[in-house]
Amino acid sequence: MITIICAECGTHPFRAQTNGTFKCTGCSSYVATADLVFDEEEQIVTDSSGILGYVRAGEG
Ligand SMILES: [Zn+2]
Repeated sequence: MITIICAECGTHPFRAQTNGTFKCTGCSSYVATADLVFDEEEQIVTDSSGILGYVRAGEG
């Protein structure tokens, strides 16, 4: 998984919230997956602790 880093602070990843959005663990800014742009071969995923990332087809 490739972790998505917050564009606001540039240092921290996002963690899944119960309302379906993702919040930065550093600066607490929110992002909705609908606001993220992915290439066709990229798929959004979260790890076991809810951290937001993506994988490319054919990779882990
Ligand atoms: Zn941030």
